[in-house]
Amino acid sequence: MSNIYMAGPSITQLEIDAVVDAMHHWYEDPYYYCEAFQREFAEYHGRQFGIMTPNCTTSLHLLLAGLGIGPGDEVIVPECTWIASCAPIKYLGAKIVFCDIEPDTWCISAKSIIKNITSATKAVIAVDLFGNMPAMDEIRKVTEDHNLFLIEDAAEAVGSIYKGVKAGKFGIGSTFSFHRTKTITTGEGGMLLLDDKGLYERCMLLRDHGRGPHTKPYFNEEVTFKYMPFNVQAAIGYAQLKRIEKLIEIKRLTLEQYRRQLGDIVDLQLNSEPPAGRNGAWITALVFGHTHNMTKQKAIEELAKLNIPARPFFYPLSSIPAFNQENEYKANNPVAYDVSARGINLPGAMNLTEKQIVTVCNGIKKILK
Ligand SMILES: *Cc1c(COP(=O)(O)O)cnc(C)c1O
Repeated sequence: MSNIYMAGPSITQLEIDAVVDAMHHWYEDPYYYCEAFQREFAEYHGRQFGIMTPNCTTSLHLLLAGLGIGPGDEVIVPECTWIASCAPIKYLGAKIVFCDIEPDTWCISAKSIIKNITSATKAVIAVDLFGNMPAMDEIRKVTEDHNLFLIEDAAEAVGSIYKGVKAGKFGIGSTFSFHRTKTITTGEGGMLLLDDKGLYERCMLLRDHGRGPHTKPYFNEEVTFKYMPFNVQAAIGYAQLKRIEKLIEIKRLTLEQYRRQLGDIVDLQLNSEPPAGRNGAWITALVFGHTHNMTKQKAIEELAKLNIPARPFFYPLSSIPAFNQENEYKANNPVAYDVSARGINLPGAMNLTEKQIVTVCNGIKKILK
């Protein structure tokens, strides 16, 4: 392939210096960067507490466990998201319920949530897909009316804003990913943001083998997880957070350039801009309108022949081998199955040049001829 990359970070001397500094702090302040990163990341999002974890999957696992989700409970998730949004539900022995998405935002549909609520439903995980924001007002109303926990998986939404509120500020808790491919990276890493002090203390104890601030040494209170971060990893995130506005600007510029270059093709859908806000534009997704008669498989194959990489829009989770529940869900979740079949993700690495974006868009124009 050409050197057009799907994903990759922006690393400067600031990150390198932070890592080198952390490498000199094994004795004094061995958790300096973890604590500073947690605190400042929470502050940036208007949350009271931040808990760094090895990745976003473990953040969600901690939160669901902290909320007491377990066998007999059901948790509603959107069909189209990364498997990490729902895998922790299964780890805890609860049932995953797949819900349909909206055709404009591609995010979880409030109407479909209502249809899927049963007496066993405990929580809804709303995912800010590709930086798009779900209709949070409607979703919040549904979860409040039915007394359900609302969880926001904001892994793809650093920089997104919905009606003046930053992604990561919705629901009882939100989770972020700092995977190599995400807008802010620590290579592998995640963060749980909370406002409730009791839940925060519970999640802190769950994160470190049942040890709380008042636990006697080696006198663990419970058998729990070990999801601790480390300083060198957090140092990268701390430096990235100092550059957050710049990183969001790079992502948004990529989306805008795609929008401009593809503007003269009718019946194409790109990421939506949330009301009174903005899309953090983690990745640009392109959904071909029905008139193009273009499937994601065909588009990816045709683009590959032109040396242009692309990835499929998330498959409906109920359709993938891990769950194999297409028969059960397809009829209930028609939008997810329809949109996903026509969608691809475009290259979105931080080092993408405008010239490369033009190359990608010319490729798209060619395969649509
Ligand atoms: C990347 C991602 C995750 C998982 O992140 P990890 O840090 O790899 O565990 C979870 N949810 C969504 C929506 C993601 O895109």
